Amino acid sequence: MYRNRNGLLLVVSGPSGVGKGTVCKALLERLETMRISISATTRPRRVNEIDGVNYFFKTQEEFEAMIEHGEFLEYMQVFGLNYYGTPKAYVEEERRNGHDILLEIDVKGAMKVKEVCPDAVTVFIAPPTMSDLKTRLYGRGTENEAAIERRYKEAFAEIQYLPKYDYVVVNDIVDRAAKNICDIIEAEKSSIKRNSELIAKYSEEMNEQ
Ligand code: 5GP
Repeated sequence: MYRNRNGLLLVVSGPSGVGKGTVCKALLERLETMRISISATTRPRRVNEIDGVNYFFKTQEEFEAMIEHGEFLEYMQVFGLNYYGTPKAYVEEERRNGHDILLEIDVKGAMKVKEVCPDAVTVFIAPPTMSDLKTRLYGRGTENEAAIERRYKEAFAEIQYLPKYDYVVVNDIVDRAAKNICDIIEAEKSSIKRNSELIAKYSEEMNEQ
């Protein structure tokens, strides 16, 4: 089947506790050819994390040198502390090779990506209700009450960005949310604006007749 040559750049965000990591994992299981971008960060590695798998863990100096060399598609200081950034080279190369690529990044990073790559598709993963999000944050049991309250407040700030996204997917059931995103990808790939080459091909053939 005809496909646009460039891979799709899919940007997924959502407040912490919404389960976006789980949804992205389910999405990658459904779409074997989709690649995930591994971000660089200066935040300390957590015990279960592997360098080069979860993140590329960098020192502040290393990260700032990468900024200076223009190596990021976007970067942010999330929570006003640590740097997080999307290395540009991998995203560009995979897209050139026709592979779809997934970025799981914060709302400000997503807006930046949309600015520099207007053809990116942005998806906001939302909780069924705000009280449901609070329950999920408490349920994780990994943080104290003050940290949970802070994340909950941040979730309010992040949800302010929702209207700027292309799509919203409510994560009530993980598989359903992942399927919704698959459907969005398929619809985007069939959109007229992504099929200009196909349309040009038809015009060419018709002119030849
Ligand atoms: P965590 O420290 O829990 O892994 O991630 C904290 C936040 O940073 C999450 O909202 C995550 O989506 C975001 N994040 C991870 N990588 C990037 C990145 O490359 N760029 C931006 N802007 N945010 C990121």
